[in-house]
Formats: sequence, structure tokens, C-alpha cells
Amino acid sequence: MIRAQFAMVINLDKCLGCHACAINGKKVWTNREGQEYAWWANVETRPGVGYPKLWEDQERYGGGWVLVNGKLRLRLEVEKKFKPLEMRDYYTPYTYDYKALFAPEVGEEQPVANPINMYTKKPMEIKWSPNWDDDLGGANIYGKADPNWKNIQASIYMTLRNIFMFYLPRLCNHCLNPACVAACPTKAIYKRKEDGIVLIDQTRCKGYRYCEIACPYKKIFFNWKTGKSEKCIFCYPRLEVGLPPICVETCVGRIRYVGVVLYDEDKVLEAASAPEDKLVAAHRSIILDPFDPKVIKQAKADGVPDNFIKAAQESPAYYMFKKWEIALPLHPEYRTLPMVFYIPPLSPVIASMGPNGTYDAKYESIIPSIDEMRIPLQYLANMFAAGNVDEVKKALKRLVAIREFFRRINVEGMSKMAAASVLQEVGLSIEDADLIYKWLALGKDRWVIPTRNRPPRLASQRIPSIQSS
Ligand code: SF4
Ligand code: SF4
Repeated sequence: MIRAQFAMVINLDKCLGCHACAINGKKVWTNREGQEYAWWANVETRPGVGYPKLWEDQERYGGGWVLVNGKLRLRLEVEKKFKPLEMRDYYTPYTYDYKALFAPEVGEEQPVANPINMYTKKPMEIKWSPNWDDDLGGANIYGKADPNWKNIQASIYMTLRNIFMFYLPRLCNHCLNPACVAACPTKAIYKRKEDGIVLIDQTRCKGYRYCEIACPYKKIFFNWKTGKSEKCIFCYPRLEVGLPPICVETCVGRIRYVGVVLYDEDKVLEAASAPEDKLVAAHRSIILDPFDPKVIKQAKADGVPDNFIKAAQESPAYYMFKKWEIALPLHPEYRTLPMVFYIPPLSPVIASMGPNGTYDAKYESIIPSIDEMRIPLQYLANMFAAGNVDEVKKALKRLVAIREFFRRINVEGMSKMAAASVLQEVGLSIEDADLIYKWLALGKDRWVIPTRNRPPRLASQRIPSIQSS
């Protein structure tokens, strides 16, 4: 069965850490009682501990899937640890006493807006926030605690001379094998068949919070006011009228891309059960070529509309994850097959990569240069490839080759044909380079969003709730 799925790509090489995505997501969806602490979209600094604190530590939180005798099982089910998150795992949400600024009493001192606890409405001292370790604030403590230091001596990189940083924007990954859906005892969480968006039916949700533990990315948020769970909805009301999610449209760096991909639903479990070092390749293998006549025929037979198939042929997500292999999933070892992908960061200025501060244009120099990059490859591999360094190297090598291709043309005055040898070495064509340049450098046409003209569903046609069935 072929299905269409919305997917996102985020280019970490150019993320500014401006938090516009997070702030706009909050303003649109969670700026209300019960969700004060919730950031469906958030931005973390790495190395760091993230939000909620140390969310990648599955020994602590018990999320995702594990293989037991070759079979996929929820870690939650295997370990039988039921420990929903507490407010201290996130932070105590606060606002400020703005009245003190807008209508200050006459006095000798500058008016100050003190922080106010959003729950108790009383003054409070701020001790943590959703981006407390932003820009390496307190890196000597929080950076070292980052779970991605596996097989790396963190202390080498946590010195002033060697320190590095990049931003990691996050949201629900609308996974192909979502642990949250599998963990829900009331079947309130479901994956929309038409486009793969994972949603929670608020009438079915009983607030058991199994989903919150099962999601390894900690992207389910319990609403203390309604007693139900909530999550990122990929801004589906916007998608349905052809608009991108709000975090994408408002991205200041123009580094978020959205499109649909076609995938083979029958191969999902097999891909999610692959050996750890093959997980990225297995994930890619179930994303189908939208130009293949056999795929098109089967997709039509399976009910994928023509405009979705056409959109899949123009999808930045298809090209970046599947065709060019320059984008990678976050923590594939959780085995949920996430559908938000990341272009890994290339490290600071390319001019510092080669000897004498110059960049050697010869292909032979690309691999050693990548090996010498400031951000350790193993660190990126632990984050985006279940430790498989080759996957990260492949992506970075192609990104470096693209830069070198355009440098040859724009700095050395070479023709495209003459400059293209560097592309051939990494398996890219001039057409690929032009498209990559348009998307990554210029940030044009960042989303391709097909819509379904479906008739409105009557209230009486909605799925019955647990109470009424
Ligand atoms: S990221 Fe978490 S909440 Fe989102 S679909 Fe995957 S498992 Fe579910
Ligand atoms: S809005 Fe874009 S550039 Fe700014 S932090 Fe978010 S993803 Fe990065």
C-alpha cells in the first residue's frame, strides 16, 4: 500500500537560533491555560541538555521502540516504568509584571518587571527555562551532560579552544512508526491516512499519558487544565488551504522545507526493525521514487490523488532525504521513523578547513577536510545516524562539493562544465547543484503543499468517542 506523507527538512547549517519558529508556534497553538509550559516547536543549543531536560536519555524517560528477539516492542512495555514527566523536567512557566513598566509609581529607581509564576501568579525566581543553555550558556555544566557524547571524549571539545555549537529546532516528527500511537490505550492518537499527520482526538483522550512516555522525542504535552494530552498538529488547518506550518512560514533563516513523500506502508515495520547501523538506509528504502511509472500506478490505485503525486515529484523532502541523501533523521535508533529530517551543520567557515587557511579544491581533500571539522563527526552521527559516521560524511561531502562547485564558477571564473568534476565525484549533477543552490542558498520555493478538496464532514459522521460507543 502506497501512502503520501508530509515531511519537513531543517537545514542546521543556516539556523540562526532566533526562536521565531518556536515563538510563532506558541502564539498560534499553545498560548492558553493548561499549555503554558508547552513548546510544540522549540529550539535547543547543542551541546546541551535540551527541552525537556535530557530528553534523549531513554534510560531516564523510557521512550521509543526496542528490538527484543528481533521483534519491535515499546520500551515502555518492556521496562514497565510508568513515569510521566513532571514540571521540573520542563520548567516553571513565567511571565513578567508588565504593569510595573507600563504604569510605574513615581520613585527614585527604575521600574522593574519582576518574573511572575504563571500558575501561582506570585513573584518567582527564574531557575530554568525552555532554552536555559541557549548559546552555550553554562556549557561547562550542561554541554557536558549532553547524551550525544557517546564514544567521544567530551572534555576535549568542551574547552574554549575546541568548543562548537549549533542550533537544533525540534517539533513532533509525525513518525511513520509512531510510538505514541502504539502506546495509547484508547486509540485517541491516530495517523491520518491521507497525509500521515499524527493527531490526538480530544474526545477520546482520557489523559493516561502513556503516549507522553512512549514518545522518545517528548513531543506530547499533558494539558493540566483539560486533563488530556496535546501535540503539534503540523498546522494541518493551514496545510489544508495550501499554507505551510507556521514555524516554516515564519522561519527567519528560510531553512525549513516542506513537501510530501510517497512511501510503502507495508515495509514500515521491516525498516524500523533494521540493524542500528542500517536504520537510515532502511528508512530511505521505503520512500519511493515518485517518477517511477510503477509507483505512480500503484499510488493511484491506492487512492493517492494526482496532485499529491505531482507534489511528491517537486518535494524538497524527497530530494534532500532520498535522492541526494543530504538530510538525516533525528535519532533513528528510537525506531519511530521520524519524518522531520536535518541537514547536518558544516562547521564554521570553510576557509579554515584546509592547510594555510585555504580550501583545497581537489576532491581528495574533501574527506580529510570533513574529518577535521570542528564539530566531531561522531557527535553528529550519534544524533542523526544511530552512530553511523558514514551517513554523516556522505551528506557533508555533498554539501562541501556544492560549495566548491559554485566557488569555482564565481571565484575562479570556471564554466559550469569545467567545475562539475567536483560534483561527479560525489554523485551529483549540475541540475542537482542548481536545485540545491535554489533551495539551500536562496531559500526559494521552500514548500510544495498539495490540498485535498474534501467535502466537510458532518458532526454525525465523526468517529464515535469511547463514551458514546
Ligand atoms: S515525535 Fe513523538 S509524538 Fe510525534 S509522532 Fe513521533 S512518537 Fe508521536
Ligand atoms: S525560525 Fe528558522 S532560523 Fe530561526 S530558530 Fe527557527 S528554524 Fe532557526
